[in-house]
Formats: sequence, structure tokens, C-alpha cells
Amino acid sequence: MNETPKSLNFIEHIIEEDLAKGFPKSNLRFRFPPEPNGYLHIGHASSICLNFGLGLTYSAPVNLRFDDTNPAKEEQEYVDAIKKDVSWLGFKWDAECYASDYFQQLYDWAILLIKEGKAYVDNQSSEEMAIQKGTPTEPGTDSPNRNRSIEENLSLFEQMKNGEFKEGTHVLRAKIDMSSSNMLMRDPIIYRILHKAHHRTNTDWCIYPMYDWTHGESDYLEQVSHSFCTLEFAMHRELYDWFLDQVIDITKVRPKQREFARRNFSHTVVSKRKLLQLVEQGVVTGWDDPRMPTISGLRRKGYTARSIRNFVDTIGIAKRENVVDVSLLDFCIREDLNKIAPRVMGVLDPVKVVITNYPEGEEEWLDAENNPEDETAGSRKVPFSKEIYIEREDFREEANKKFFRLKLGKEVRLKNAYIIKAQSCTKDTDGNITEIQCTYDPKSKSGSGTEESLRKVKGTLHWVSIKHAVKAEVRLYDRLFTDETPDAHKDKDFMEFVNPDSLKIITGFVEPSLAEAKIGANFQFQRIGYFNVDLDSTPEKLVFNKTVGLRDSWAKIAQKN
Ligand code: ATP
Ligand code: MG
Repeated sequence: MNETPKSLNFIEHIIEEDLAKGFPKSNLRFRFPPEPNGYLHIGHASSICLNFGLGLTYSAPVNLRFDDTNPAKEEQEYVDAIKKDVSWLGFKWDAECYASDYFQQLYDWAILLIKEGKAYVDNQSSEEMAIQKGTPTEPGTDSPNRNRSIEENLSLFEQMKNGEFKEGTHVLRAKIDMSSSNMLMRDPIIYRILHKAHHRTNTDWCIYPMYDWTHGESDYLEQVSHSFCTLEFAMHRELYDWFLDQVIDITKVRPKQREFARRNFSHTVVSKRKLLQLVEQGVVTGWDDPRMPTISGLRRKGYTARSIRNFVDTIGIAKRENVVDVSLLDFCIREDLNKIAPRVMGVLDPVKVVITNYPEGEEEWLDAENNPEDETAGSRKVPFSKEIYIEREDFREEANKKFFRLKLGKEVRLKNAYIIKAQSCTKDTDGNITEIQCTYDPKSKSGSGTEESLRKVKGTLHWVSIKHAVKAEVRLYDRLFTDETPDAHKDKDFMEFVNPDSLKIITGFVEPSLAEAKIGANFQFQRIGYFNVDLDSTPEKLVFNKTVGLRDSWAKIAQKN
């Protein structure tokens, strides 16, 4: 096969250029640096696939680094969830690292900065400091504390570390340039006081390093060669480099920060802070609620790791932000499940059909192919009997020629079974159909090879034998937000766009082979969509999630409007 080589993305170009300039390939090292302040979401999948993908492409190690410098928001639960999700996505990290492991080193380097006259303790209020920062067009003014003596700074910083000051009273600032055109260079804060226990260092520290001070130095300590982050850090690069300059040993690898565009997705939000709000306010049942755009939510909903990787691969890495239509993710999961999901029959909105000429008390176990897309998938037996359920919407007393389902006087094939003809129906006092009476053609059994079995009828319906069917709870999901870009409105909070009908719970009936289905297993309910067994499922009560429909119903609705 002549496969066209995949063109390089701009990130790969950066690496190729460095290699061409003589950077040793064996020095390549990457990292994925989540803050453990929430569960990973589909946006993180882009960063994970980018970094771990580079690791695979260049046979280079990739660290999983927890950026855990804010004990107020970080928890062990999040660390565990992140590790599970990265592994589940199919990636292996080289080292499991924590910024908190570098607290002592970062502190020692901060002392070094003070001794070189490059850092000072400021005890002004944050408001005063904000005013002195200036504006992008006006230079800032020096803090009255900027020229404290080295001795005084060392002593104050030590007192900060020893817990002698209250939160918010003192910070350590790097002494860079209050008139820099880059506001971030105007004496940024590198340490603040937080009297909070950390999930790893407990109460060892009550001063915590800021992101900018931590990130580049952590990259350097781990000898990460290329540190990829999202565009909002582009302006931070100058500071990243300044901090590196203070500590670098030129015989070592100097990490390089480069930026790519953060991914946004239609009809959802990807910000841990906002997702936490949905969890805390009970809009969803948890971080892994199948409506959440989290990796754990998608997994629970039946998405496969491969479909997520394919999705991320398809959208690629961009230099500019834009909104990616989530229906592309639906496309990717359909494509994957079409290949691997066993076909089964389930009726979600049942109406009873009685086959009047089928012998009373008789039952047959009919052959049913498990997956026409996969020859190795084999077949199973499905029971057939005199009374079956079909979908209510698959029957009409009268309908035009385009209705290829069951109508009075006309025939349809029952999947894997017989051809039936609707003869009459019974209704309740409100006019709702309660039962359909049909006859069947005993010679038309699927796969029997008879002339009748080969007879073409328009329309094939799925069904379940009432006597054998297993009751199941089925959870149907809709988009969590009614608006395409819920968090992009200046005058409205994203919570105003929560879809009140994002979950519908119904009772369906499925074929008995599903009674033993394992949690997480994916199936195609023929003619309906893909479903998986939810975590809440028990042998006594089956629970299914709808992963995705067979077709994109949203595209259809959009077309109609
Ligand atoms: P959030 O706002 O969701 O907390 P974050 O950037 O603060 O996002 P981190 O845990 O710091 O979350 O992210 C780890 C890595 O994943 C970072 O390199 C970050 O740039 C990247 N990342 C986070 N969100 C996205 C996104 N939507 N698209 C692409 N990369 C992302
Ligand atoms: Mg963050």
C-alpha cells in the first residue's frame, strides 16, 4: 500500500528544526502537566495525545507531572482520576512527577535569587501592588520595598516560610523590570503564603511557589526538552526564559516553551472550574456523569479510547483557537463501534404484537449474526414466540408509501425471524394502540433458504419476545447546554444555558443474551444506536447508557430549521 506520509504539524516542525540544528534525539523529553484540581476533559485529551504522541513518534520519554502548587484546590482524588484517564487513553508515562517534589529546590533557588538581589519580599496590599503595576501602555512604579537589603529579605522570607505571617500579608517577588512592555515581567510574585495542608506535603510548607516560577524550573529539573502549553501562556514565555536563565547549567538541556491553541467544543464547557460548578451544584451526578465532557464521563457513556484518540487526531493541533463541533466526536465513536460492537435487539418504546397463527406455547431460538462488520464475531440465538414487542413508532394503521414499517394489510420482516403481516389492532379508550394482531409466514424464516425466506419485503424491524425479554433502565442523554458556546457570552453566565432535558430515563426491553452483559460493554441496539452497560447496572437491574444514535439526529434537526 502506498500510504501518503502524514504531513508534520507545526509542533513537529519545531522539533525537526531543533534536530536538524544538532539537538540530540536522545535528549528529547516531553511532559503532560495537569493541575490536580479536577478531572481531565476532552480538551486535555488534545494535550495528552500531543505530548504522548510525540513520545511515540520520537521514542522519547514523557513525564506525567502534577502541577500541584495550590493546596486550596488540589486533591488526591484528582491525582488518581488523572492517572486512570491517561492510562485508559492508552498512554504510558516515563516518570510520575510532582511539582511539590521540587518545593525544597525551588525554595533554595529563591534564596539564591534574593542573595543575588533579584528577589524581594513585598508586604503591601494586593491593591497597592496592582496600582503600581501600571497598564500595558504605561510603565509601572517601583514598590517602596523593592530596595530592601538582602539581609532583610532573607530574614522576612524565612519568617514567611516559618509561618510567622498571615495569608496575603507578604509575598516574594522577582525583581525584573517595572517598565517592561510585558506586564508579566513587572516584578511577578513567585511565592505566596497559604496556611493550607497540601495533599502530599501536608503542613510542611505554608509558602507555595507560583505557576510561572514552578513550571519552567520543573521542566528544567526533569530535563524536559520541549514544554508545550496553550496559547494563553505565550506572554509568559519571556518570564519562563528569565527564570531559567537564573538557574541554568549550560551543560544541561534547556527546556523550550512553545504554545498551541486551546481547544473549545460546541455545546459544552471545558474548564475544570466550570465543570466543578456543575458537579457541586448537582446539575450532573458527578465528574463521570455521561453528560460531562470529561474523559471519565465519555468513558462511562461508552466512548472508546480509540475513538477519542482518532477524534483528537482528526482535529489536529492548531495555532489559533476555534470551536470544534462535537458531532465530529460522535462520528468517531460511531465509526469505531460500528466495527466492534455486537448487534443486539432492544425495544425502547414497546407495543405488543400477537402473532395469531403462531402455535400457542411454542418457542424457537433463532440464529442471529453478532456483527456483520466482523466475521470473527460469530452468532448467537435469540428466542421467538407468539407475543413480541416492537417499537411503537414502527406501526401505523395507515401510512403513505414511504413508510417502510408495519401498517395494516402490509408485510415487514422481523430481523432474524419471519415475515409478518398486520391484520388488525386494538386501542384503549384514549385511542392509544395496545396490541397489534399479525399473521406470520411460517416458511419465511431468515436463513432457511426457502423461496419464501428470500422474498424481498421493504422494511425490517427489530423486536423482542415478550416472554424472554429482560427489562432494563435506559438512560438517554441530550446535550448538556442548549447554546453552542455557553461560556462565550459577555452578559450571561454559562449556567443559564444548562439544558433542563439533558437526561431522560426510560424502561426498555432487551433480548435475554444481555442479561449477563458486563459493565462497560458496548452494543449496537439494531436500528437505534449504540449503548453500553452503565456502572450502576446490577444482575437484578440492567442499566444502559445511550452512547450515540446510529445517525446524527442533530444534523437532521438543523437542516429542517
Ligand atoms: P482548566 O481551565 O480546564 O483547568 P488548565 O489549562 O488550567 O485547564 P491544566 O491541568 O493546567 O488545566 O492542563 C494541563 C495541560 O492541558 C496544559 O498543558 C494545558 O495547556 C492543556 N489543556 C488544558 N485545557 C486544554 C484545552 N481545552 N485544549 C488543549 N489543551 C488543553
Ligand atoms: Mg490550570
